[in-house]
Amino acid sequence: MNQPAHKCDHCKKAFQPRKIDQKHCSNKCRQAAYRKRKQRQDTKKPRPAATPLVVTVCDHCGGGFWAKTRRSRFCSTSCRTMNHRYMKIALQDALAALYGLPEGTAAELFETQPIVRLKAILSEVGLIYSPAQRAWIEPQSA
Ligand SMILES: [Zn+2]
Ligand SMILES: [Zn+2]
Repeated sequence: MNQPAHKCDHCKKAFQPRKIDQKHCSNKCRQAAYRKRKQRQDTKKPRPAATPLVVTVCDHCGGGFWAKTRRSRFCSTSCRTMNHRYMKIALQDALAALYGLPEGTAAELFETQPIVRLKAILSEVGLIYSPAQRAWIEPQSA
């Protein structure tokens, strides 16, 4: 039997198809064509939109900066570190005031208690940390 020669969809060479719907001369061409088609589909997919930047005020220095998420609170790592340091100092003061602890005792708490627990104690009594005042305060006076 002498079927008419087909042109390979991929390499454009003439070939004798073994099946009536064969579009490619070889498996290699079939796979290459498939890859190409897939690639084209992939590039057609719309790229996810970039997250819009939001202007945020740094909790520590009060400077404005462009943040990728609203959860970003600090303009820099140093502000984050400094804020944490100040928060810890204020936490000591607040705990000392809360329990009437003598100086230095509150600092010892940090060696035995996880900081999250100490923060929880203060939030239980309704205090929040104000980075602007660098102190634990009652929310209404913020
Ligand atoms: Zn081919
Ligand atoms: Zn800052």
